[in-house]
Amino acid sequence: MDEHVRQALRRLPGVDELLAHDELAPHLDRYPREHVVEALRAALETARGRLLSGEYPETWGEITSVPTIVREAGRLLESWARPHLRRVLNASGVVIHTNLGRSTLAPAALERVVEVARHYNNLEYDLEAGVRGSRHDHVAELLTRLTGAEAALVVNNNAGATLLMLAGLAGEGEVVVSRGQLVEIGGSFRIPDIMRMSGCRLVEVGTTNKTRIDDYRAALTTDTTLLLRVHTSNFKVVGFTEETSIAELVELGREWGVPVADDLGSGALVDLPAFRDEPPVTASLRAGADVVSFSGDKLLGGPQAGILLGTHDAISRLKKHPLTRALRVDKMTLAALEGTLQLYRDPAAAVREIPTLRFLDRSPAETEALAAELLAALEARFAAAGLEAPSHVEPSTARAGGGSLPLLELASHAVVVRPGPGVVVSLEAALREASVPVVGRVAQDALLLDVLALESEELPLVAESVAWALARSRCMPDCDPAPEVDAGAAGGGADA
Ligand SMILES: *Cc1c(COP(=O)(O)O)cnc(C)c1O
Repeated sequence: MDEHVRQALRRLPGVDELLAHDELAPHLDRYPREHVVEALRAALETARGRLLSGEYPETWGEITSVPTIVREAGRLLESWARPHLRRVLNASGVVIHTNLGRSTLAPAALERVVEVARHYNNLEYDLEAGVRGSRHDHVAELLTRLTGAEAALVVNNNAGATLLMLAGLAGEGEVVVSRGQLVEIGGSFRIPDIMRMSGCRLVEVGTTNKTRIDDYRAALTTDTTLLLRVHTSNFKVVGFTEETSIAELVELGREWGVPVADDLGSGALVDLPAFRDEPPVTASLRAGADVVSFSGDKLLGGPQAGILLGTHDAISRLKKHPLTRALRVDKMTLAALEGTLQLYRDPAAAVREIPTLRFLDRSPAETEALAAELLAALEARFAAAGLEAPSHVEPSTARAGGGSLPLLELASHAVVVRPGPGVVVSLEAALREASVPVVGRVAQDALLLDVLALESEELPLVAESVAWALARSRCMPDCDPAPEVDAGAAGGGADA
C-alpha cells in the first residue's frame, strides 16, 4: 500500500473521538447510542473504502474530516429509522401501477380499516347468534347484491382465486383453455404453471389468434372437469382474431355437465367510458359462468384481494377446499373491501370517492387545470430557491396500468421540466431520494410529470420534491441544498 494512503488512513478519527464531538450530540439525542456507534463504524468504513479506491489526494482531507464522517453517519441513521415501505407521488401517468401499490383506497375504506384494525371486532364471531361466525360472511352479501351472483368468496389475490378455482373445481381432471389465453400476468404468474401447481391437466385448444367453440368441443373427454376462459387483460391480439364467447362456453359446458370458470382479471363493476373494452363482471354471471374471479385492487379500486363469484354449488365447493384456508384474507383487507364495495351501491358515489375510478374518469379539461396548478406551484418553488428550469404544460398519454386495458390511451396532461442537457438522469435519481419520492417519466432531456394519478392536494408536495431534487441534482453527489420537507405537514389534506 502507498505510504501516503497509509498516512491518510491513520488520520481517520476514532469512534470514541467522534462520539465526544459536539456535532454528534443531536444524533445521540435522537437515536440509541449503539445505533450511533454502528453508524459511525459504517461511515468510517466508507471513508476507508474511498481512500483505498484511489481518489485524488486533494480530497483526502475532506474524506477524513469529522464533519464528513458525521454527515455520513447521520444519513445512515436517518435511513435506518425511516420506514422502508412508504408513500410515493405517482406522476407516471399509470393509474393502477403495480410497482406503486396499484389502487389507493377511498377515505371511507380507510376508515373501515382503522376501526377494525384498531379494535377487537367480529371477524369470526356471529353477533346475532353469539356463536362462532365466518370471516367469509362480511362481504358476501354485498357482493351478491351488487353483482347478482348467487354466492361469493374472497381470497388473498386473484392469482390465488385462479389457483383455487382450478384446484377446487377441476381437481386432477382436464381443463380446456384456448391457446390465445395462456397468458403471463406480472412476471411469475403464468396460466400453464398455475395449472400444473393446482394438479389439473391443461388441454390447449385453437390457435394463438383464433379459437372456436368447435375447438373446445373436439377436446372434451370423460376426463374434462372444467372449461376455463382467461381474460387476456394485459395484451391484445389484433387483426384476424376470434374468441369464443362465455355464453357459447356455458352452453357447451351445460351440454356436457362441465362447469365453466372465467378469470376476468380486472373486474369492472361500473360503466365508465374508459372500460368499454373490459368484459363486465355481471355479463359473465348473466351468461351463466359457474364462477368468475377478479382482483380487488385493479379496476375495482380496493385492496389486494381475489374475488370469486358464482353459483351456490361452485362457491361452496371452493369454500370446502383446504387451499381456501391457506389463501384466507386478513381482517384489514375485508374492512377495506367492505368500505369500497359499500360505495358501489351508488355508482356515481363510487366514481367520485374511489381514487382509481376518479382518475380513470378525469377529463382532459380537468387534467389540464391540474397540470397548470402544478406548473404554478413548481415555478413558485423554483423562484424561491433561485433555480431555473424551463417548464410547461403539454398533453400526455396516460395508461390504466395493472395489466388492465392495455390499448387504452387516456388523454391527460403533464408538466414538462427541462433541467438542462444531461441533468435529467440525476434529477430522476434525486427524485427517488426525496423525502416524498416522485415517480415521473423521463423522455429524452425532459422530466414528465403526468397529473392523472395525482390528488390535487398532492401537487404542492410534488413541486417541493422536484425543487429539492433539482437543486440536489445540480451539485451531485454530496451536497444537501434544501431541507427535506415534512411529508405530513406539506401533504395538507392528502392523508385526511
Ligand atoms: C391480474 C390478473 C391476475 C392476477 O391477479 P392478482 O390480483 O394480481 O393476483 C390473474 N388473471 C388475470 C387475467 C389478471 O389480469
